[in-house]
Amino acid sequence: MKYFLMFLATSGLLQSCGQITTTNTNQHPEDWGYQGETAPEHWAELSQSFFKCAEGHFQSPIDIESYVVDTDSGKSLKFYYHPSPVDLVNNGHTVQAVPEEENYVEVEGYPYRLQQIHFHEPAEHRVDGIIYPMEMHMVHSDSAGNITVVGIFIKEGPENTDLQALWESLPEHPAEHKHPNERCDIVHLLPEDGAVFHYTGSLTTPPCSEGVEWFVMEKPIRLSKSQIERFKKLYHGNNRPIQKRGDSLLSNT
Ligand SMILES: [Zn+2]
Repeated sequence: MKYFLMFLATSGLLQSCGQITTTNTNQHPEDWGYQGETAPEHWAELSQSFFKCAEGHFQSPIDIESYVVDTDSGKSLKFYYHPSPVDLVNNGHTVQAVPEEENYVEVEGYPYRLQQIHFHEPAEHRVDGIIYPMEMHMVHSDSAGNITVVGIFIKEGPENTDLQALWESLPEHPAEHKHPNERCDIVHLLPEDGAVFHYTGSLTTPPCSEGVEWFVMEKPIRLSKSQIERFKKLYHGNNRPIQKRGDSLLSNT
């Protein structure tokens, strides 16, 4: 069965993220990367637990071919996001925002809690070959560890005021944390209502675990050129290449 999903979003009070405090931890980034000897083509060689990165059959990201997508499957993805304090961390692979209060999505009424939001530059997924400048991943899981990721493309445009405050707090060094004092209204990071492409794939980072439910939103959000440049100063090319798929593009597996 093929899917083409509509989504509903709850709205919250518009708030921005303001002042920050900074703490450091002694964490070290894991030893995989995007270039040289730790590049994606070598991930499976770095650890036995990364074997799916080479041997998986339902790997992400993919090039989504919109022409194969049905237009009304009736499946729903509902967002239950609200203004929340977030911990921003530079994890050595990207910058990640971890909400400190419960936010979740419901897929057909089944809840998955939002664990973290992070960014890739350029985008990992493509739509009909189009590569967006960036992609935001909102990673959710249920109590059994099943993962649902909402992917949102980022296009160049006017300054994104909803993300600007986070952007001013981007932790520059691996293992660095920054903590905005004000709550961030996560629902305002979403694009306008629109289509969502669904497929079953994998994590796009080691261990490349499969069984990940992907909901990639068709409509992008926008960041200004300078906002994109600001992220690029921290991470550039932190995207896994497109993965080949056998038979299951946008199919219910
Ligand atoms: Zn990601």
